[in-house]
Amino acid sequence: MKLIQALGIVCLVALLAGTAHANNKAVKAVRKKEAAATKKCIATLLKSAKALAGMKAYDEARGEIRVALHLDPSHAKAAKELVKLRKKTDETPEAVEEKAEAAIEKAHTACSDLFVPVLDAWAKAEWPEELAQLATVAVTHLDDEPFEALDLTWFDPYLLWARSVDVERWEKGDEFWDGAWVSADDVKKLDEAHAKWSDPWLVDDGVQQVKTTMSLRDAKRVSHYVRSFRAFVIDYFHGEWAWTQPNELLPIFLTRTQVDYTARLTDYDPGSARSKASALYVQRTGGICPVFLTFEPKSVATGTNIGWVSILRDVRHEVAHQLLYESAMADGAGVGGNIDWVSEGIATFLGSHQPSKSGWRLKRLAQEPYGTGFEPGPFAWTMGNLDSVGPLETYFAEFKPNLNEVHEYWVATTLTYFLLHGGDRAYRKPMMQLLIDVHMARGDKDSFAKHFGKVDFATMQRQWEKFVKGISIQDL
Ligand SMILES: [Zn+2]
Repeated sequence: MKLIQALGIVCLVALLAGTAHANNKAVKAVRKKEAAATKKCIATLLKSAKALAGMKAYDEARGEIRVALHLDPSHAKAAKELVKLRKKTDETPEAVEEKAEAAIEKAHTACSDLFVPVLDAWAKAEWPEELAQLATVAVTHLDDEPFEALDLTWFDPYLLWARSVDVERWEKGDEFWDGAWVSADDVKKLDEAHAKWSDPWLVDDGVQQVKTTMSLRDAKRVSHYVRSFRAFVIDYFHGEWAWTQPNELLPIFLTRTQVDYTARLTDYDPGSARSKASALYVQRTGGICPVFLTFEPKSVATGTNIGWVSILRDVRHEVAHQLLYESAMADGAGVGGNIDWVSEGIATFLGSHQPSKSGWRLKRLAQEPYGTGFEPGPFAWTMGNLDSVGPLETYFAEFKPNLNEVHEYWVATTLTYFLLHGGDRAYRKPMMQLLIDVHMARGDKDSFAKHFGKVDFATMQRQWEKFVKGISIQDL
């Protein structure tokens, strides 16, 4: 089942393959209602941002625009405002703090009030996932009080705030499919019907599509996770690197076994099947390239099911590659020009963020569970092995088209963290340019020097060592 949607309000109206009933009049009417409420809310937020900027509360103003962009990631005016506001670095004057807070509260309550009737309409239409997706954006970024009557509960497998009545059905094993609730027993029958690759489950959110012969629950779990992660990644780069949505669905193959994984890879590109990687994003000229995932990676041990915590880590890393490269290819990039510490560093850095009820947060774990054991966290390993990195002046002078050892990934991840967030953010701008260049297939041995210019390496080295030693490592 394939569904291509209008770009505008993907974040809100992302539809999980409910094509059969998508033309249903009532659903169309709710969708329209939601689009109108979103438009009004964004206008309110932009007005609030303007007022906040007027009182020099720039951080708060940027916050309002980011909320607007969560509602509509491709809102051109909001994106432009954010670019303008990024240049303002002044701290919010203490004298206006209270006034700023009141302005934000007023705007957020106004927005939440706009969404209450839309959520009621989704409830009446009995579309639980549409309701939950809107509710989740609203509860996370706006005022949650107006939604109390909906009795929302967090459903962790889907990373959604949903109505308790709907969560109870999911917990029983029921699913919403093709525009209607399906009982757990009937879901099992459907799962059996989709257990072969001649007719797999295809679950999409309008941007990415999960293909699997596993269960509908598994497909939806990955699909919801990817949708949420994508919103985080787009938000992380807003104002610095614009996301371009490819014009076709981006495939994600989810497999249970190594045999199945290898078969899917071989089907796509026989050469990639030799890779020992636990999961892969395989890039090809022209774009729309898949991510391949398996619960039984070669890198762990045959017969080992790595479980959800591990596979979701693979999802974050590979989907980060997919989002960044596919956006670049949608902008006309070719394939090549890779600098591995840059592309792997950013994929692992973004993948080090994990979801919670209140959004995505960077984790700096001492150890990360993977498979049947643990791996060192990238930042913790680098902190403990700082000397092995050597002088940055040497590191950045070398052109690294490929990283060979896993610890090289951890170093690249920590360097990415430092260049984006350390040194008083002085390196963020050139690092963003380097990231864009590499994903646009323009990286070469001179790229670092081209973007960073004449670097005072003695200062950078001092800042780097201080930064790494200062990272607060979290226990599991
Ligand atoms: Zn990678």
